[in-house]
Amino acid sequence: MIDKKNTSKTSISKVRSFRKKTLAIDSYIEGILKNDKATLGKAITLIESSINEHIEKAKTVIEKCLSKENNSIRIGITGVPGVGKSTFIEALGKNLTATGKKVAVLAVDPTSSVSKGSILGDKTRMQELAKDPNAFIRPSPSGETLGGVGRKTRETIILCEAAGYDIILIETVGVGQSETLVHSMVDFFLVLKLAGAGGELQGIKRGIIEMADALVINKADEDNIKQSKLAQIEFQRALHLYPPKINGWTPKVLLTSAIHKMGINEVWKMIKQYLTQTKQNGFFAENRKKQNEYWVLQTIDNQLKQEFYQNKSVKKMIANVLQEVHENKISPFNAAEKLLLLSKKELK
Ligand code: GDP
Repeated sequence: MIDKKNTSKTSISKVRSFRKKTLAIDSYIEGILKNDKATLGKAITLIESSINEHIEKAKTVIEKCLSKENNSIRIGITGVPGVGKSTFIEALGKNLTATGKKVAVLAVDPTSSVSKGSILGDKTRMQELAKDPNAFIRPSPSGETLGGVGRKTRETIILCEAAGYDIILIETVGVGQSETLVHSMVDFFLVLKLAGAGGELQGIKRGIIEMADALVINKADEDNIKQSKLAQIEFQRALHLYPPKINGWTPKVLLTSAIHKMGINEVWKMIKQYLTQTKQNGFFAENRKKQNEYWVLQTIDNQLKQEFYQNKSVKKMIANVLQEVHENKISPFNAAEKLLLLSKKELK
């Protein structure tokens, strides 16, 4: 049986020790700007905390980091577990750090809040990159709703950029809405795939083709080469059937063997080509602007919802009102209005 007394004591002491360990705001900023990884890590922990005092402190740290100019590129990478995401990110990351770039790898893992553990949280992943002084790897915030993970990841991007990371790789798994979420915070969205046994398009989630700036067929090696080339042709053909993207870019289909570090340079070349094109036609800046607007509205949505459902009168009445709907005593619309009105009354 769980000893409640002890558990709460432990968590209180954990909170206390973390509280003690938080730094002064200026120390966070100074450490981040110097790219001191330990301080950056601590600042991200501050962002992830749900203690009010930390939330307030984190807000100031983020605001101060926002004003720092940077030329970063944010790249989203998705694919089912086992497709080779961490092998690919490690290969791409090492290639980039070898040319003097600084690479941060973040994860958005909707399964990290489930007690069974996360898909992307395995500590043995990307060992080489983890040792690289020019790379910074941070697992997904856990114990959060997907919306919460999204917000925290966005804020973490800001800190990493202030710390001088040029390339931010954001990894996710194709679970629930996580791909849409990551798509809404990146400049380039890359989908990793495996060649299947024909009928490639059937195995792809709806909407993902519209989001993808590139499909990369990984494990195009050994016995898999022929099938991968066939898959490439099939995807290329399929992509032509889609209307042109507003960014003027035609999504590419490339082959890689992440484990043998083959095709990685070509992927980077393609991303650079995309950046040149979308910076020239203005899409890059426009997209970031739109993404910021989206996040403002999204945050308002979340906050309003949270306030509504936490409202005492709403909590007390919601079951009764729903019952009235079940009994056809009140229409769903009137029920909603009644509850909204209740929530406003208590606020006054
Ligand atoms: P993730 O779950 O998407 O992060 O996938 P991992 O990077 O952990 O890779 C899953 C497995 O596929 C591992 O055993 C890798 O060694 C293997 N793998 C990754 N990339 C390749 C590749 O390009 N070719 C082959 N043959 N195996 C690969």
